[in-house]
Amino acid sequence: MRPFLKSIAAYLARFEAETLSGMKILIPNRRAGVFLRRHLAEEMKKTGWMPDICSVDEFIDELSPFRRPPEVELVFTLYRLYEARATNPEPLETFYFWAEIMLRDFDEIDKYLVDAGALFRNIVDLREIEEPTAGLDERQIAFIRQFWGSFLEGDETREKTRFLEIWTLLPQLYQALRDELESKGLAYPGMQYRALAEGLESFSAKIRPERGFVLAGFNALNAAEQRLFSYLKEHGARFFWDYDLQYCGDEGDEAGRFLRKNLQAFKPEELGDDFQGLSKEKQIRLIELPGDVLQAKFLPRLLGEGAWSAERDCTDTAIVLCDEDLLMPVLMSLPGEELEVNVTMGYPLRSSAAFGLIDGLIQLQLNTRQADSEGPLFYYADVENILRHFYLPFLLDDPAKGRAILKRMADENLVLLSGSIFEGSGLEYIFRALGDRDNGVSYLKEVVQRCLSSMKSSESEQATALDRASVLQLIVHLNQLLVLPEPVSRLTLQMQFNLVRKMLSGLRIPFEGEPLQGLQLMGILETRLLDFRHLIVLSMNDDIMPGRSAPQSYVPYALRLAFGMPSREDREAIYAYYFKRLLQRAERVDLLFNGKNEGLHSGEMSRYLHQLFYRHGLQVERPGMKLKAAFAPGLSFGHSERLVQKLERYRDGGEDARMLSPSAINTYLDCRLKFYLRYLAGIGEARDVKEELDAQGFGTLVHDAMKQLYDGLKDEQGVITAEALHQLKDSDLPEKSLRACFIDLHFKGRKNARIEGRNRLIFKVMLRYIQKIIEHDTGRAPFRILALEHTVERRIGLELPGGEFPVRIYGTIDRIDRTGGILRVIDYKTGKAKTGFKDVSSLFEQDSATRNKAAMQTLLYCWLAGEDYPGEAIAPGLYVVGDLFGASYDPLLKEGKGRNAVQVHDFRELEEKFLESLTKTLVSIFDPTVPFGPVESTQACRYCDYAGLCRREGL
Ligand code: SF4
Repeated sequence: MRPFLKSIAAYLARFEAETLSGMKILIPNRRAGVFLRRHLAEEMKKTGWMPDICSVDEFIDELSPFRRPPEVELVFTLYRLYEARATNPEPLETFYFWAEIMLRDFDEIDKYLVDAGALFRNIVDLREIEEPTAGLDERQIAFIRQFWGSFLEGDETREKTRFLEIWTLLPQLYQALRDELESKGLAYPGMQYRALAEGLESFSAKIRPERGFVLAGFNALNAAEQRLFSYLKEHGARFFWDYDLQYCGDEGDEAGRFLRKNLQAFKPEELGDDFQGLSKEKQIRLIELPGDVLQAKFLPRLLGEGAWSAERDCTDTAIVLCDEDLLMPVLMSLPGEELEVNVTMGYPLRSSAAFGLIDGLIQLQLNTRQADSEGPLFYYADVENILRHFYLPFLLDDPAKGRAILKRMADENLVLLSGSIFEGSGLEYIFRALGDRDNGVSYLKEVVQRCLSSMKSSESEQATALDRASVLQLIVHLNQLLVLPEPVSRLTLQMQFNLVRKMLSGLRIPFEGEPLQGLQLMGILETRLLDFRHLIVLSMNDDIMPGRSAPQSYVPYALRLAFGMPSREDREAIYAYYFKRLLQRAERVDLLFNGKNEGLHSGEMSRYLHQLFYRHGLQVERPGMKLKAAFAPGLSFGHSERLVQKLERYRDGGEDARMLSPSAINTYLDCRLKFYLRYLAGIGEARDVKEELDAQGFGTLVHDAMKQLYDGLKDEQGVITAEALHQLKDSDLPEKSLRACFIDLHFKGRKNARIEGRNRLIFKVMLRYIQKIIEHDTGRAPFRILALEHTVERRIGLELPGGEFPVRIYGTIDRIDRTGGILRVIDYKTGKAKTGFKDVSSLFEQDSATRNKAAMQTLLYCWLAGEDYPGEAIAPGLYVVGDLFGASYDPLLKEGKGRNAVQVHDFRELEEKFLESLTKTLVSIFDPTVPFGPVESTQACRYCDYAGLCRREGL
């Protein structure tokens, strides 16, 4: 079908060719103008000047003698007026949000030519509204009665009082704002619209209606536009409406709500089109996908199908994003190289990397502490935010310097960084502390300005058009704040930053690509007046199309109806029109929606899609296609040549041979894949700054402190008596020793570091644990320490198909002591653990959630220590520190179930079975027929560092 703009171009070329050059064509948005010009160029038979094409908003702005100030200037002006009138004025940053609502209301009041005095009248006596002097008709009176009647009913509440306070201020603010702006030659758009509509004759010289006006493609008209259009109609203007008989002929169809009136009030020219596109056959598909990003991922498939292959010219294809936040996932999913893509939409600035940078800078400044001796101290998380930001290469000449600081932070576990660390890095202009009265906006602008300059430099190819556009937007808006008549620096730093955040978070970056070539990527508003053969519409969910809420307003619903201001129903009708109009001339339409019910997302498809089914009888194909995210990718590694080489490194006797630890063997038994990732692929945990001591550090500190204390306590023979333990417990030594270990381990030896916040609580718990171990040991003293934190290793020969394969196992035993003539191998456990286990083979059960890992490890230590104490009985003991608080805790391991469990007094009685199971496990590690695959049960994945890699996160 012929695009609507092409029909208009053909009409104009045929009937208006002679007058076209002087003509003015008004359309709803500028973007459509580019397409109209192209069609006119195609249709015109001879060379001539193009008509002047612009949006109605541009036209009115052009006619107005008043200039539009930036919104932030309006907010500041409004705030000043409010501050002078309110009894208890709110601070500016709180008022900013209200101001945006008020300005939107004032704008609508003026565009809809509402009598502001009548609207804002505070109705004390409802009879007043029936007085002829009130100038209200019956319909208005009914709505006003409806609102004020129910409002005044019942008790006075806080909300009602608050509403009345604002309501009584609104007329004063409305009038004062208009007066002040007018006195300065300024106006917000609504003021310009009202001035024009109420004084059309006086504008006639500027409008020059005789030049010939064409008005095309409008839908909902405000009152000022209606007056302007009537005026132009009287002077011969021609009208073209883009509609379909299906919804315009059905009084109940909201999509035709405005066009039914427009078609009557402004009769259209005869274009020769039948306006029945919706009744024609189309290939419409409805595709439900389980997630937002999956809709984007599905696009290459839709573009590559059959005759619609991506190899063809995609100029007649549009991807429409009802949710503009999907721009990035979509751009990343499209086949970039072979496809030309034009983006025309407003992208939310808050979703951009540039906004992330500003937010990071604000956070950095707000969290900076002033320490007298060291100057400013920056919080590590804020520093990391900036040094890991995607824009770091644009912020300093040598990004390696930034990375070096990150490394130093991790190595030295720096939680608070003094400013001196940045000296000579080129980052001093960012990492400087601002005072409360400094100009925070200038600081932010300086950083983003530097960013933009680097992006513009010829060497920089990393910055995308989106990066440049978003940084530019930031600079424009920060500049607006800096040039305000009232200096922003009169606000505190916190207020300045709050203001910047508020101002920026609602902005959109206007993207306008070369719209004539390639695949079009557009927001729903940008589709007005345009037609495409193939449409792919994303996020056709009811909470997005049309969305659940109307913009916030101080004018209640009933009063909006009374005074002819746009209502929620009007907004829904406008979106219904956008959607149906888009379908009119398309041949193929793919409508995608996210069917996942998650968070605020209902997973409901849009009501407009339901209407397609039930009201219009269009044949909508449901391919029944559901994509499911792969539950687990089946990540598994066989014994490749490379892997065999890696395993070979465990052969004992080789150069730099590796050894296996009890933790590695436990990891293998828990999950072979995890063993592969950690020990063979070498994917370890990221080394980060740790503000708080983690579980691993907790265990290490208790071990270290115990070693220090008992090393200092034992006599020359290694004996520790009960008396010595008593004295130790009552002294400050445990605390001093633990503190020293804490400083060494967590703060990497920084003597001035302080144990604060949650670390203080953790410190107290650790100290309590240490005291409990001492107390427990007092009951068994005297005993002789044979070794503390003692590393041992032992060789074991494995019989593999390829011959003997010796490996070496090593481990650090927490403590070996002799008490009451019994040799004990003790392992401290600061986490949860049990002393009981079913039998030896249960300790080596693969993938078992109930396997006693601590017991396996302790027995393995006994085996390792066994070589040093030939023929001697070895008792395995577990100090589960949390359980020491129980009165009769016995650390000896127990084998068996329930009442049949028996204490293991001598490991040697289990040694044979233990060695057999251990050997079997070790052989399986090197067995080429056993791949390194994932654990079956997902229970082990919950706290696994690799859950993201295995796609088992959140299972
Ligand atoms: S996430 Fe699960 S399957 Fe993956 S390595 Fe960890 S434990 Fe194994």
